[in-house]
Amino acid sequence: MAGNWKMYKTAAETTAFFQKFAPMVAAATHAEIVICPPFVNLPAAVDAARSANIEIGAQDVFWLTEGAYTGEVSAPMLAAIGCRWVIIGHSERRQYFGETEETVLKKTKAALDAGLKPIVCVGERLEEREAGATESVCGAQFDGGLASLESEQFARIAMAYEPVWAIGTGKTATPEMAAGAHRFLRSRIALRFGHKIAAACRILYGGSVKPDNVKGLMAQPEIDGVLVGGASLDPASFASIVRFARQLTITRQFLS
Ligand code: PEP
Repeated sequence: MAGNWKMYKTAAETTAFFQKFAPMVAAATHAEIVICPPFVNLPAAVDAARSANIEIGAQDVFWLTEGAYTGEVSAPMLAAIGCRWVIIGHSERRQYFGETEETVLKKTKAALDAGLKPIVCVGERLEEREAGATESVCGAQFDGGLASLESEQFARIAMAYEPVWAIGTGKTATPEMAAGAHRFLRSRIALRFGHKIAAACRILYGGSVKPDNVKGLMAQPEIDGVLVGGASLDPASFASIVRFARQLTITRQFLS
């Protein structure tokens, strides 16, 4: 269950969030909980989450380890401060900052080399969904980037299906729509990397997940978890989403 804070909260607000949130999720020991604050708040978040069952992730990373790249942050720098995860290829980065399949792939490899766990996002825009192109868009995003990883590398990533039209809009994909896209992605993963790796791959759903719609989404066996923007900013709201985390079972019926 991952929270993407986008460009919200100061360091003091980050610490205050964890003071409330950590006790709320202390009993959810089966859940993998990840919070991704802005870069400048990562040290405060790592510090605040140190004795809690919460891991910290970044929202982006550069693909080289160091150099004259003003404004960028490398994967070894993130790992060195205790960051464990990184979101790569979020639709906001694709839309506003020129992220492409090529950069997604380079960033994913850099993150893996540094021991970080990438959450790689794919998803279609509204006009693509309306044109019936969801599968061709998500398939092309997968084929143009992640499909070039080695199996051993792919086995260490999580994916997020995030339909762009559902992000920050209040419009959630229905559980059936989300599950259909997840099923498609998993079959594409199976074609490239085999059934075992496909079955084990965590695929999160993201797009206006809230405490009142998470139950229906998590009831779909295809949906392993959620990537949550707005509703992860409030401790009580994200804690009530985390309640629906379940243990991942790799024996998926449709693959057996
Ligand atoms: C996101 O930022 O990945 C996201 C899904 O945002 P929201 O939950 O606000 O739609």
